[in-house]
Formats: sequence, C-alpha cells, structure tokens
Amino acid sequence: MSDRYCVIGNPIAHSKSPQIHAAFAARTGQELDYERCLAPLDGFEATVRRLVDEGYRGANVTVPFKLEAAKLATRLSERARAAGAVNTLVFADGEIAGDNTDGPGLVADIVRNAGVALGGKRILLLGAGGAARGVMLPLLLEDPREIVVANRTLATAEAMARDFAAYAERIAVRGFADVEGGFDVVINATSASLAADVPPVPDSVFCQGTLALDMMYGNKPTVYMDFAAARGAVVRDGLGMLVEQAAEAFALWRGVRPDTADVLNSMRQ
Ligand code: NDP
Repeated sequence: MSDRYCVIGNPIAHSKSPQIHAAFAARTGQELDYERCLAPLDGFEATVRRLVDEGYRGANVTVPFKLEAAKLATRLSERARAAGAVNTLVFADGEIAGDNTDGPGLVADIVRNAGVALGGKRILLLGAGGAARGVMLPLLLEDPREIVVANRTLATAEAMARDFAAYAERIAVRGFADVEGGFDVVINATSASLAADVPPVPDSVFCQGTLALDMMYGNKPTVYMDFAAARGAVVRDGLGMLVEQAAEAFALWRGVRPDTADVLNSMRQ
C-alpha cells in the first residue's frame, strides 16, 4: 500500500492540496496517497491520533487547527516554535513532529518565482494572525532593512512583535492608518480579502514597482491586488506561496524537493 498523507481542516472541501501533492508525486516518481480530512471543530487531536494509528506518515494542517497542532506536536522545528503554529506534521518513530512551511513557501515565491530579493528591503506585513506569525522568522532571516507590522487590532501585532524580540531593532508596529513612507514589498496576511475589504493603509505605501502580494488566491485578483495595482504596484496572489509551502512539506516527508514551476503554471490555468 502507498504511504498515506492528508490535509486536516474545517472546512476542507475547497483545498487544492491533494491536486498539488498528486502532481508532485507524479513528477518525482514517489508513490503516495494524499486526501482531504475534515476534522470536527472539537476533534482535531482525536483525528490526528486516529491517523497515526491507521499508519499515516504525515499531514498538512489548515484553518482553524494550526495553533492546536503546535500544542499537540511532541517536537517542533525552530520556525514552528517561533510562529507558535504548525502546518506540517510528520509521524515517525513514535513522535508527532511539527513544522511550519508557510514562511519558506512565501519567501521562495517572492525571491525565486517573483525574482525579488528581500535583503536590505523595507517590508510592510499587514496582519498578525497565524499566517503572519508563520512568515515572520523566514522573512527576518532574509535580512530585510525593516519589517513594519500593521494590524487592525494593535495589541495583537504588539504581542507578535514581542515574540520576535531578538530582532526588535528591525521590527516596528503600527495601526493601518499610521504606516509611513513607501515599501519595497507589501504582504497582505489579513483575511480582509475574504470580505472584499482592503486594510486601510495610506496610498503612499505603494510605490512604482512595489511588490504587493496577497496571501489569498482565487479565480480573479482580490480587491487588495486591484487597489495596489492602481497605485503602481506589481501584484501577486497567494497561489505561488501555496504551491511552495506544499513543496517544502513534500520535501520533509519524502526527502526530495519537487520542481514547482510547471505545477504552478498548470494550477494557474
Ligand atoms: P487569522 O484568522 O489567524 O488572522 C486574520 C488576520 O486578518 C488578523 O490579523 C485580523 O486582524 C485580520 N483581519 C481579518 N479581517 C480583517 C478586515 N476586514 N480588515 C483588516 N484586517 C482583518 O488568519 P490566518 O492568518 O490564518 O490567514 C490569513 C489569510 O492568509 C487568509 O486569507 C488565508 O487564506 C491566507 N493564507 C494563505 C496561505 C497560502 O499558502 N497562500 C497560507 C496561510 C494563510 P485582527 O487581529 O484585528 O482580528
């Protein structure tokens, strides 16, 4: 029987992960099954224990279980510990190992796919939820000049910044309306696009050529992408990040990193 993996979430029917992992498996010649797994909102731990008992080798974790997954894991990678959130579980040697590949996925999409180096750059990160926490350490490790974190609830952004105190001189926290100056990269890690909302930052954050990335993706550009494009930014949705975080998870499980370019192209079509 093939090794089994799944993505656990609630809801989960919309997940594109089975399609992405099937494409990776075909391209790398790995034999595996990957399916969607709907966990009851109060039944994440029981679901993981059942998967372990049934011999699954690992799982991805998505909304709303990433924080719970970090608590359940018996071992955490440094980036998962820093994020306090886990999106990839590895079941091996009696352990439930937790990692977070969202950040490396975002960085790979910006640096490799979009061709934008982050060293020395000014980055504006909108949001302070699970996704924003997950990308902070990998972004900081790219050595940007500054990361300004702006969030609707200021206290949440301040608490997040405190968790990255080792990099305090590179991090500033602002309310949306108080962000000043232009940025090289503006990342929308809020879920505002779900409600067709744009975080109310000043227009001046976008300059000619700013990379404006929305972690959301869909069949058409988000309102945030339209807003940023109208102000001269180069825009990008979250599909590249999704494919890249999946490639990182696949590499953790299988020891081989799949090529992502043609998978991303075919997903876009
Ligand atoms: P969370 O629920 O943990 O955090 C939501 C964040 O959005 C908070 O900062 C919240 O602010 C803010 N927010 C929500 N609604 C609004 C609004 N109307 N205006 C301004 N800010 C708002 O979600 P996640 O961090 O897990 O996910 C965020 C987004 O990233 C989602 O759209 C998700 O789909 C996407 N994502 C994409 C990935 C990919 O691979 N492409 C991977 C992971 C996430 P407050 O603190 O004030 O409530």
